[in-house]
Amino acid sequence: MNDRPRYDYLIVGAGFAGSVLAERLATQHGASVLLVDRRPHVGGNAYDELNADGILYHKYGPHIFHTNSEQVVDYLSQFTEWRPYEHRVLAIVRDKLVPIPINRTTLNRLFGLDLQTDQDAADYLASRAEPVADIETSEDVVVNAVGRELYELFFQGYTRKQWGLDPSELDKSVTARIPTRTNTDDRYFTDTFQAMPKDGYTAMFRRMLNHPNIEIRTGVDFRDIRGEIDAGHIIYTGPIDEYFDFRFGKLPYRSLKFDHKTLPEDRHQPVGTVNYPSPDVPYTRISEYKHLTGQRAPVTTITYEYPSAEGDPYYPIPRPENQALFKRYEELGDATDGVTFVGRLATYRYYNMDQIVGQALATFRRMNERREPSGTAAVAVA
Ligand SMILES: Cc1cc2nc3c(=O)[nH]c(=O)nc-3n(C[C@H](O)[C@H](O)[C@H](O)COP(=O)(O)OP(=O)(O)OC[C@H]3O[C@@H](n4cnc5c(N)ncnc54)[C@H](O)[C@@H]3O)c2cc1C
Repeated sequence: MNDRPRYDYLIVGAGFAGSVLAERLATQHGASVLLVDRRPHVGGNAYDELNADGILYHKYGPHIFHTNSEQVVDYLSQFTEWRPYEHRVLAIVRDKLVPIPINRTTLNRLFGLDLQTDQDAADYLASRAEPVADIETSEDVVVNAVGRELYELFFQGYTRKQWGLDPSELDKSVTARIPTRTNTDDRYFTDTFQAMPKDGYTAMFRRMLNHPNIEIRTGVDFRDIRGEIDAGHIIYTGPIDEYFDFRFGKLPYRSLKFDHKTLPEDRHQPVGTVNYPSPDVPYTRISEYKHLTGQRAPVTTITYEYPSAEGDPYYPIPRPENQALFKRYEELGDATDGVTFVGRLATYRYYNMDQIVGQALATFRRMNERREPSGTAAVAVA
């Protein structure tokens, strides 16, 4: 006789991927959901909380919401209001604070120039660029676009710290994400929607998960309970290699150590994040939350990020052999009945939050389509 507790769905991981699916399945299918996370809280990497000094900070580093997807904004807006916020980042280079991504202001400030127009800046960058015939690595991408001096000042040291690898060893896709601009737009992101959840991410997650069909158990590892639960279907948002007991070997990740500090000052730095590309500084960046949240207080909380080989899995290391290893796990996942793999750790790719929300909503849509042939009406996604 089976006396294990029965749920329609066991969802592993209460980050965006797991929480969106829990909400959709509970509210749209009336399904019973057990949502577990081995961390002591919901929200995954986006978790925020008030610290002992009453400042709202992000435990796993600064999370800024930005998207071009109306569908994702509409969906999340059911659970939060928004505070408009456009993130700006400065880099300390040769003792000067300059905008990043590199723009016209960056060039003028750093090299004492007076570039007036987009064309001036484009001509200047073209005069510095050192064309590379076959662009294969991150180094090739940057040197080809802006030349070796800017590459060394902004990218080489930062990348070595961030990845523990020289840009010449990294796939071109890594730096393809860092554009240069010829105008003076100093916003870090250019998406149509840029805002922070008004009461923070954790408050948004709590509203999303507040449903009688959703049971949440935090501080619980899937591996410890998998035999104790009778689940109709498993949605797994943890590391895919771990699900299969690392049978082909470990998928390599880069990690970070976060050093959170509260300082007895109103403002610590002029913008949300300051980058430190110099190899002589051990951290990559410092972020100050009051810029992001708009909170007013006589003290301020900042976070130093120290890249590390050890620790929680944060950034998949984008090298072809790692992708090949992931493909083997992906095939195994595809052949495993009763389990859906979704989210950044299960798909071994760096995704922004909005992309994960989009991925989870698309997964739900596919689940709807599969329900249709059995005669059950499909339900629209919000
Ligand atoms: C430093 C940093 C900064 C970032 N900044 C931004 C940003 O500014 N903007 C942006 O859009 N995105 C940002 N991101 C990306 C963002 O964090 C991810 O897109 C998002 O967290 C992905 O959600 P997820 O649900 O896939 O994964 P996660 O949030 O990681 O959730 C997965 C959850 O599964 C749990 N889990 C794993 N295995 C098990 C198990 N065996 N049992 C139980 N639970 C398990 C984990 O504890 C985790 O809570 C940043 C990421 C990092 C690392």
